[in-house]
Amino acid sequence: MHILLMGPPGAGKGTQAANLVKELGVPHISTGDMFRAAVKEGTELGKQAKACMDAGKLVPDEVTIGIVRERLAKDDCKKGFILDGFPRTVEQADALNGILKELGLALKRVLNINVPAADLVERAVGRRICKKCGATYHVSFNPTKKEGVCDDCGGELYQRADDTKETMENRLSVYEASTRPLIEYYEKAGIYTEVDGRQPINQVTRELLQALNA
Ligand code: ADP
Ligand code: ADP
Ligand code: ZN
Repeated sequence: MHILLMGPPGAGKGTQAANLVKELGVPHISTGDMFRAAVKEGTELGKQAKACMDAGKLVPDEVTIGIVRERLAKDDCKKGFILDGFPRTVEQADALNGILKELGLALKRVLNINVPAADLVERAVGRRICKKCGATYHVSFNPTKKEGVCDDCGGELYQRADDTKETMENRLSVYEASTRPLIEYYEKAGIYTEVDGRQPINQVTRELLQALNA
């Protein structure tokens, strides 16, 4: 089952992808996670990505499309994937169509988690991530049992460098200008479903799964 998970920054894509992976058993592919891994490794790609991410800008299309092309060609993507955070521009969406065609794959559905801009800064600023396993929490909306410590693995939590109020304002305006047009793009393709992301995490998961079974 090949799925896109879309939504503005902080809408809950990573949180929902983790839940969907448990149900569907397909790989979760997040371009943001791939860039953060490259930053950690200190590669050339990582250096370029870090400058863009810290400014709240998109990494250039040709770079992003290249890493996605490589990843989707791997064998584990044949049975399905949850692609999170890609595409983010019309150029990326066109490229994705080409890549899928080459691989003989088709998108089953594009799921958009809709959350109003007014809620998103608080979500991002309160976001905490486990250093060890990558689990995502929120200081108020989804807190760990013990402060600063992952419930799943006991790992230490950290805050993303780009989860500040200032960077979020840039990310939200980039979303409006470059990514929002993809809603109409996929509506026209007849595979688009929107879910209200202001609901509790598990209710959002239920509605996403319903959309996939419909
Ligand atoms: P994205 O991958 O879209 O940027 P995340 O899944 O990392 O978003 O979620 C952003 C923040 O919002 C996290 O701190 C997460 O715990 C929190 N969050 C996710 N879903 C919800 C929800 N339905 N209600 C409240 N907070 C949520
Ligand atoms: P969020 O959804 O919370 O903004 P992501 O982890 O998806 O977080 O993305 C973090 C950053 O990584 C983005 O602000 C951008 O700089 C970069 N990035 C991720 N995906 C893409 C993409 N498809 N195209 C360009 N840049 C991307
Ligand atoms: Zn953990």
